[in-house]
Amino acid sequence: MAGRTLIFTGPPGSGKGTQAAHMRDRLGFVPLSSGDTLRAEIKAGSDIGKQAAQYVQAGTLVPDDIITGVMLAAVSRQPTSAGVILDGFPRTVGQAEALDDGLAAAGRKVDAVIDFRIDDGLIVERIVNRRICKNCGATYNIRFCPPKVANVCDRCGGELMQRVDDREDVIRTRLATYREQTTPLIEFYDRRGLLRSVDASREAPAVESDVVALIEALG
Ligand SMILES: [Zn+2]
Repeated sequence: MAGRTLIFTGPPGSGKGTQAAHMRDRLGFVPLSSGDTLRAEIKAGSDIGKQAAQYVQAGTLVPDDIITGVMLAAVSRQPTSAGVILDGFPRTVGQAEALDDGLAAAGRKVDAVIDFRIDDGLIVERIVNRRICKNCGATYNIRFCPPKVANVCDRCGGELMQRVDDREDVIRTRLATYREQTTPLIEFYDRRGLLRSVDASREAPAVESDVVALIEALG
């Protein structure tokens, strides 16, 4: 039997990337996040990677067909027996339709879409409290995982800072874009009976058990 092809959807900060990595460790899935895959393809210098690099270097949005090409290239490099998890792709209905065609050519189909549901307010709370050590890159959360001394790294004594991307206004804008793009996508998969969802507002181990149960229920 061909390996499962799953899609993880959810806003930035929902923990879906972490869960995709756990499914690699627990169930042998190959996680393919759109950002990492794009960077890897550019670095490898493949034809599609070269096309994508032109947009990235120019600082413009990489078009739908190129992102789709990059993700399909990465999927088709996996043996058909391997399960894959697409993380952060597709983002639009157009990409989802192109994905279907490409997967069919590779002898695969989308088996399920797992949507990581969480309120925007909770994501904002998780991210705005994030601090990173300027020196060693260790991450803290001043609410849930604070350093022993305020603003000082436990590990190296370095000063902690907030990343520009972690400011509330930046996060709110990113979330609004995400909801606008993906609401039609979620409906698209729901109509086809492929949509599953997990409550991503809970602690990671509880979310992980639900994800495993959903995957095992696919048979
Ligand atoms: Zn440090």
